[in-house]
Amino acid sequence: MNILVCIKQVPDTTSIKIDPVKHTLIRAGVPSIVNPYDGYALEMAARIKDKTGGKITALSMGPEMAKDALKECISVGADEAFLVSDRVFGGSDTLATSCIIATAIKLLEERNGAPFDLIFCGKQAIDGDTGQVGPELSEQLSRPLITYAFESEVCDGAIKVRRENDEGYDIVTARFPAVITVEKTPYEPRYPSIKSKMAARKAVIPTLTSEDVIVDEGRRGLKGSPTKVKSTYTAEIQKNGQTISDVEGAVAGNMIVELLYNDGVLK
Ligand SMILES: Cc1cc2nc3c(=O)[nH]c(=O)nc-3n(C[C@H](O)[C@H](O)[C@H](O)COP(=O)(O)OP(=O)(O)OC[C@H]3O[C@@H](n4cnc5c(N)ncnc54)[C@H](O)[C@@H]3O)c2cc1C
Repeated sequence: MNILVCIKQVPDTTSIKIDPVKHTLIRAGVPSIVNPYDGYALEMAARIKDKTGGKITALSMGPEMAKDALKECISVGADEAFLVSDRVFGGSDTLATSCIIATAIKLLEERNGAPFDLIFCGKQAIDGDTGQVGPELSEQLSRPLITYAFESEVCDGAIKVRRENDEGYDIVTARFPAVITVEKTPYEPRYPSIKSKMAARKAVIPTLTSEDVIVDEGRRGLKGSPTKVKSTYTAEIQKNGQTISDVEGAVAGNMIVELLYNDGVLK
């Protein structure tokens, strides 16, 4: 089994700061972690590898410091890692990002002489939060997609996935090669051992630049990004709520209904 896991390094917080002029994420000075859903994706991949054998490749696009995230992945199951990094890729929106990552994946597959059986992504990154990159990769690579996987097993050249839906879960199967986006799993990702941490620290992570990952100018960076952020703002929290207390539940219910009628919410 040849598995690739897409890893995004994200700020260790959910309160993201935005550059008011460029409208892009400010990363400087914020401690970074592996996007938690990518950690679940890597653990799912590692559990598959534990059963079937094979190799896990971790891939990230980002600045040089994203190598720390990739080293962390090597300490908990990835066999090798690559960083896609180049100034000309900066400012990419999700479409440009997925186009660059898809091109990098094709390059690695060409070098390996075979497609990855499975490509795992997190269901979303906790900073950008769009959840678009996984589905976009499946489209750009013309491979089947299963989203929101929280359990999986592989057999006979296919992956069977339990995925969340609004009412419960679906069981969906896709033949290899396929793209899977991963939800929080019922199990926690494994911890690194001291030995695996030390080995990961020494790992050499090759950087793929725009000379390796050849993407048309119109499909990379700010210029190649159709999403234009016109303005950003922080939503104000309005604290004009009303508290009903010291009355029985049924009475409180009636009072709420009356308030909603008076405000025109109910008619
Ligand atoms: C107009 C515009 C300009 C932007 N400019 C910048 C910029 O200058 N610098 C910047 O850092 N961001 C920039 N961004 C944000 C950038 O587009 C997103 O961070 C990126 O496309 C991923 O989107 P997301 O965070 O919503 O990931 P999601 O789609 O929510 O991520 C889903 C999954 O895809 C995979 N994935 C996502 N991103 C990566 C990655 N980079 N490498 C590997 N795997 C990945 C992971 O597995 C992740 O769990 C910009 C966005 C817009 C709209």
